[in-house]
Amino acid sequence: AANTRESMYLVSEYANTYFQNVLHKTDKGKAIGLSYFKERGFTEETIKKFQLGYALDEWQAFSDEALKNGYNIEFLESTGLTIVKPDKHFDRFKGRVMFPIHSMSGRVLGFGGRILGNEKKAAKYLNSPESEIYHKSKVLYGLYFAKQSIAKEDNCYLVEGYTDVIQFYQTGIQNVVSSSGTALTSEQIRLINRLTNNITVLFDGDAAGMRASLRGIDLILEQGMNVRVCTFPDGEDPDSFAKSNTEAELREYLTENAKDFIQFKASVLVDEAKNDPIKKAETIRDIVNSIAKIPDQIKREVYIQECARIMDISEEVLFSTLAQISKKEM
Ligand code: ATP
Ligand code: MN
Ligand code: MN
Ligand code: MN
Repeated sequence: AANTRESMYLVSEYANTYFQNVLHKTDKGKAIGLSYFKERGFTEETIKKFQLGYALDEWQAFSDEALKNGYNIEFLESTGLTIVKPDKHFDRFKGRVMFPIHSMSGRVLGFGGRILGNEKKAAKYLNSPESEIYHKSKVLYGLYFAKQSIAKEDNCYLVEGYTDVIQFYQTGIQNVVSSSGTALTSEQIRLINRLTNNITVLFDGDAAGMRASLRGIDLILEQGMNVRVCTFPDGEDPDSFAKSNTEAELREYLTENAKDFIQFKASVLVDEAKNDPIKKAETIRDIVNSIAKIPDQIKREVYIQECARIMDISEEVLFSTLAQISKKEM
């Protein structure tokens, strides 16, 4: 199995080099892929740093080149790069710009591929399948590039997508990772927790982003970490916001708009809940539910006090609600 994995790493590394060569050295790669990345505002340096590439819009251009170079069809298939049928084989990624996904130590585990443009003919992003080297729930996109900065800044920004990571990095904020394509998992959070105790969740300014950040919060609290949340104006995501702002503006926005999770939950729900006692009660219960996930008793107590203040309710009621929830969970 160790041999199998090693062969899968080698073929993934080969594919990574191949897709980059197509992007930088072929006419189609330059005209289609490279100009796409440049339109998105990525510099040459950024494109090289993140090892971005391009997969030609052909049936088996990559697979045939790999086979010609001696790579075994078995590992092309097990990495998901090639789809093998009884009588033929073809490339998984066709006509897509390519984002290699690295392990913490920089090995290529898999790829995300994006269609050009916004037509809805195919899934916008296609990812490598789960494999013996690519366990999606245990990988964070960008962690390889971000790890030093996360430790140094003692904080990690968590975003939704590949381009959010890259645009932040280029703008000057390097402590940024993404769960890219899967819902956030506790294993991914533990990877961050080796480097810092603090996560700032930055999800898209749309309904899906809001739901995803609410889900992420409890998972992060359960790991005993501190979580802050910063949202973006409607229709913006970290990528678009970073693209149209300087590093100083971006940093200022993050500082001014990052809220701790209680303030965030309260602000999401409170406007509509203000004059509606039933909604207000639901909001409070929701916040206390999150507080119940925090392993540390002192922190729980501090957050109960904060919730009491923000929601204008007595601490006693909150503590007894917390006690009820904790009892139910045991
Ligand atoms: P872009 O800016 O290139 O349009 P995005 O990252 O803003 O991409 P979102 O629609 O906000 O895209 O989705 C967030 C993330 O979810 C993506 O980066 C990708 O990892 C994943 N994703 C989006 N659409 C799909 C899809 N159709 N299949 C699989 N994963 C997807
Ligand atoms: Mn989105
Ligand atoms: Mn987005
Ligand atoms: Mn985007």
